[in-house]
Amino acid sequence: MKMPVKFKTYCPFCRNHQIHEVEKVKKSKTTGLHWIDRQKERRGKVGNMGKFSKVPGGDKPTKKINVRYRCTTCGKAHLRKGYRVAKFELTE
Ligand SMILES: [Zn+2]
Repeated sequence: MKMPVKFKTYCPFCRNHQIHEVEKVKKSKTTGLHWIDRQKERRGKVGNMGKFSKVPGGDKPTKKINVRYRCTTCGKAHLRKGYRVAKFELTE
């Protein structure tokens, strides 16, 4: 899917259609602070790792992307529900 860097769309802050800039939201890195992460660490890496031995299910062919829309008029950004696309490109 190709998307223009700038296009006119509704801004919930201005309550009007304004020119928006598109930013791709980067995937957040895992912090390792969750309980399951600590449990995994305790389990070690030798032998059968119980439930951690499971191979995660087949990866989906497409990934969900999140796009942030920044209004050039008020400078505020808003998000919309992510959608699945195989390829995401920003065009001029
Ligand atoms: Zn705005």
